[in-house]
Amino acid sequence: MVIGNNKVVTINYTLTGADGSVLDTSEGDEPLAYLHGTGSLVSGVEAALEGKAANDHVSLTVEPAQGYGVRDEDLVFALPRTQFSNVSDLAVGMQFELQTEDDVHLATVVGLGDADVTVDANHPLAGQTLHFEIDVVSVREATAEELEHGHAHDHGHAHGHEHKHEH
Ligand code: ZN
Repeated sequence: MVIGNNKVVTINYTLTGADGSVLDTSEGDEPLAYLHGTGSLVSGVEAALEGKAANDHVSLTVEPAQGYGVRDEDLVFALPRTQFSNVSDLAVGMQFELQTEDDVHLATVVGLGDADVTVDANHPLAGQTLHFEIDVVSVREATAEELEHGHAHDHGHAHGHEHKHEH
């Protein structure tokens, strides 16, 4: 069976940055399971896996536009320091979840002023050229329930996010 839409795919992967440092890996953890064609992986990776089968190895470099996006300097902005009054040890580099109109962004504190705090809501990997080494472990048909939910129900983690059932 080959990878295509509505298939649940299990992969082992290692993600490295342009400088060769390991940014994320499934090594030492369970393989990652995802529902293909739903955008759960960055677009460049899903495109490269299309048509592959179990035991195939994929090695690819993904430019920012097909990865976590190009950096958007409009996403670097100041918030009043009063919004952080409940944070006792506010420091540059601290990450927090920022609720916007339609999404939750992971934002990073990049500057501290007397009255305000400068934050960067770009994805931490935005603007980076990324290298993926991927081993396809298994490919199977998605169940009706998985198709309804839009995600795989196998074990595995999706970059630290909890699996949520919002229905
Ligand atoms: Zn579900």
